Parts: sequence; structure tokens; C-alpha cells
Amino acid sequence: SLGYINGRFVSLEELVLPIEERGHQFGDGVYEFFRVYEGNPFMLEEHLDRLYRSADLIRIDIAPDRDELRAIMDELISRSGLANGDIYLQVTRGMAPRNHAFPSVPSSLTMTIKPWRELAPAVREQGVQVLLHPDERWLNCHIKSLNLLPNLLAKQAAVEEGCFEAVLVRDGFVTEGSSSNAYLVKDGAIRTHPATNHILGGIARIAVRRIAEEQGIPFLEEAFGPEELLAADEAFLTSSGIELVPIAGVHGRGAIGSGRPGPVARAIHARYAELTRQR
Ligand code: PMP
Repeated sequence: SLGYINGRFVSLEELVLPIEERGHQFGDGVYEFFRVYEGNPFMLEEHLDRLYRSADLIRIDIAPDRDELRAIMDELISRSGLANGDIYLQVTRGMAPRNHAFPSVPSSLTMTIKPWRELAPAVREQGVQVLLHPDERWLNCHIKSLNLLPNLLAKQAAVEEGCFEAVLVRDGFVTEGSSSNAYLVKDGAIRTHPATNHILGGIARIAVRRIAEEQGIPFLEEAFGPEELLAADEAFLTSSGIELVPIAGVHGRGAIGSGRPGPVARAIHARYAELTRQR
């Protein structure tokens, strides 16, 4: 594991920020999570697009440009000696005396790289239970903001019910998971919430859409409700960290489909695994 803070490579124990740091005091920043396969961050350009877009939307100027940032990430990967790792990157509005209005200080960039947080193989082989939970978030969920409190509360509620993920419901529609995108499969077509301000447009979601198109599986960006989820043939979650995980059932409501990972989820994940490992 290795850390980076504003131009310096440091051990994780050394990652000390001033108390008056806006990420820490306000959650005033954005982040990215990249999975590195054999030295290459998967879908790097898509992640960088989202990072710079998120920062723009909250008016943070990321000091390194894309080329510089790619170079810093490369150096982090090579110095860490980790061919396979998870990079967490965060940009905040910087360090300044506490005041809600924006300070005139440079933004701050920190990163960590750690070995993959691996899923137990049984998770993908058997599928998971999810908990339906109200989506209590704000109206800018497309920004990958550091403010994750509603997500954390939902995830914790799920964990306390023995579930893998909380599936969020807003106005009768499933938006996404607390840290993943959510999909159902019905009559051979994949359905997921459109990439609006109510969800984070996942990078794994982009990969799934491309794979579906490649395999001739319809990919419908149409929201669905809990009843449609329960009546689906299959359902699954995706994120960069979990890749694709089938949903076996909804807590207190019953199984989805056969209660086992279905053929569409399996086919999509098989191709995803190929794409991440072939480069
Ligand atoms: N939605 C939310 C709320 C998330 O936190 C994440 C994971 N960062 C995702 C979706 C999936 O995004 P990605 O595929 O880019 O990891």
C-alpha cells in the first residue's frame, strides 16, 4: 500500500492532513475509485472524464491536468509494486480556515493504492440479498461527491439485516445501490435507471452497456419499481470494486427469478472479466 498527498509519495501511516481541510470539515470534494489490473486502471479515461466533470460541477479546479494526473497515477502504481490494486483518489477544495464560502487556496489531491479488496468467490457464485431502502440523497447524485452520509446509513442498515447492499428507492423507483448501480433482466433485456441526476453514472455501468450491445442484449435505460424487481428473471449490481454481483433475493420479499445467478448476469460478467484481464 502507498499514499500520495499534494506532490509527495508517503506511507499510509504518514497521511496527515491539517484539521482545517475542507474535505474533512465539509466533505467539500470529489473522489474516484479505480481498479488496477496488471498495472492498468480499467476504463481510465472514463474515470478521468467523470472526475474532472464532478470537480467542475462543484467548481473545484484540479491542479494537475489529465496528462499530469495519469503520470502521477502511473508513478503511484509503479512505486507501490502492486500490479493489481485499488486506487482511491480524492480532490478537495483545499486547506483554509473554516468558512462555508470558498477560500482562495489551491485544491488538494490525495491518493492511496492498496491490494484489491477481493469478494469471497461465493458472493458471485451464489448471488446476494439486498435491502430496499429509501433514497434520502440530494438532487446531484451524478456528482461523485465526498458527501456519502445517506449512502453509509443505507449500507449499514443493509449490513445489519445480513444483506450485501441497500437498493435505494426514490418516488417508487429503484435508483441504484448505496455504492453500486442496480439492474434487472426481464424477457432477455437489461433494464436500469437512466443516467440522470438521481444516480451516479457508474463506469462499470458503461462497461456493461457496451458488453450488452456487443452481445446483442437490449440495454434499456428505464427506471423500474420494487415490484418489477421482484418479478424480474434476474437482477444484478455493478461497481468498479465488485465488478458484477448477481442479486439472489430481496430481504423480506423473496427470491428473484430462480434465486440463483442467471445466464445474462453470468455472460456479462464473463466478458467483463475478459476485458479487464486482456490488455
Ligand atoms: N453508484 C454509487 C452511489 C456509487 O458509489 C458507485 C461506486 N462508486 C457506483 C454507483 C458505481 O460506480 P462505478 O461503476 O464507477 O464504480
